[in-house]
Amino acid sequence: MSNGKLVILFGSPGSGKGTQALLLADKKKMTHLEASKILEKKFIKAKSEDVVKLDGTEYSLKEQERRWREGLLVEDGFVAHVMKESVEAAREDGLSVLVDGYPRTVGQVELALPFILSLYKVSDILVIYLEVGEEESFKRNSNRRVCSLMRHSIINLPETKDLTVCPVDGSSLEKRTLDKPETIKVRLKNFRKKTLPVIDYLESQKIQVSRIDGVGSISDVFFRILKEAEKFGI
Ligand SMILES: [Zn+2]
Repeated sequence: MSNGKLVILFGSPGSGKGTQALLLADKKKMTHLEASKILEKKFIKAKSEDVVKLDGTEYSLKEQERRWREGLLVEDGFVAHVMKESVEAAREDGLSVLVDGYPRTVGQVELALPFILSLYKVSDILVIYLEVGEEESFKRNSNRRVCSLMRHSIINLPETKDLTVCPVDGSSLEKRTLDKPETIKVRLKNFRKKTLPVIDYLESQKIQVSRIDGVGSISDVFFRILKEAEKFGI
């Protein structure tokens, strides 16, 4: 039995990556591994004595959780361990896996690639990079809203601009204070400086990278992604 393929999805802030990841996983029956959700789940169950031992380093789950709550980065070695566990488990059922939100830095990809390559052949890995120019990204983020009930993020797109309630749960939409121009600039800069080099690194390791234009309606962009995924045999 084939153990499926691995797709790693990247997207600049405001690219609509989250929405597209859900659509792709649903359409192609892939297991969707969203790094932030996986970490959160891990922390919910964590007890104070829980430690993970990795290459001689011990990570306390509660300490990692504290970093997470305070907005600090969870340590690379710890995230690598958690993601490895998740990919291994997901791969067991034979479905293709969609990883979203990991790796985010060159330090992370250096730790991730050895275990990824122990699970998948290079030819079974596809990186999809959803590209949106900084100007467009800025525009979409500065007009972003979130729903009051579930904090669903509604970026500024032609098909969302007239929405007054959340399309999923019907709650009212509000503007996020997080999305101040200075904050958006920092997020864009972080992406350019920290995450873009990850894509270059993967490409330098002979992993296939598909760059997809993220500008357009949700369905237009999704069709572009589908085309790439299908070309790749997903
Ligand atoms: Zn909502």
